[in-house]
Amino acid sequence: MLKANREYGGGCLCGAIRYRVTGPSLFETQCCCRDCQKATGTGHTTIVGIARDQLHIDGEPSIYTSAGESGGAVSRHFCGTCGGRIFTSGALPGENVMVQAGSLDEPGEVTPENVICGKDALPWDHFDPALEIYELYPPFDPVTREPT
Ligand SMILES: [Zn+2]
Ligand SMILES: [Zn+2]
Repeated sequence: MLKANREYGGGCLCGAIRYRVTGPSLFETQCCCRDCQKATGTGHTTIVGIARDQLHIDGEPSIYTSAGESGGAVSRHFCGTCGGRIFTSGALPGENVMVQAGSLDEPGEVTPENVICGKDALPWDHFDPALEIYELYPPFDPVTREPT
């Protein structure tokens, strides 16, 4: 988990977009949904939930908006030059966003807690066997941790 009171750097492949994010993270997970597979070009995406005001971006990301699994508008922010994914907005209640774990300068600081949208998980994509794989979403709100 990204630690409280620590700042982490990140950015895209070409360096046109850089960002700073301050901990703590709200949650860290891996999503196997088809949209994440299409957007990343691989089996799943690893994401870090963060309050929007903890993310400070230098540069102007391109944005692609589509209907998410829940029906609401989900916007993916990425570098228009190299295509590197930075963060996703609109998928969480409130002013919370999800940063792409692989775009961090220290991606090893991320420790996914579980796997979501396991219904779409691919047979060649493997996860830590200690992690719970949910068919869709966990039975609790990922931000508040309240049962849903
Ligand atoms: Zn770039
Ligand atoms: Zn997904």
